[in-house]
Amino acid sequence: MKSETDNTLKPCPFCGGDIELTAVDYEWTFCCFECESRTNFGLLTYEDAIAAWNKRVKNG
Ligand SMILES: [Zn+2]
Repeated sequence: MKSETDNTLKPCPFCGGDIELTAVDYEWTFCCFECESRTNFGLLTYEDAIAAWNKRVKNG
């Protein structure tokens, strides 16, 4: 089984653009530079937020 422990952000699931991770009031928000979609994962650790994002992108 392949390990997926790196902190690389997968590209935007909508347009394939670059993703920026920002913290707003301690809530992690993923913003796309291209289509400006925003996804908020709330109060997670940095690692958990990235894992949640990558899992979401992977699952479509
Ligand atoms: Zn996008």
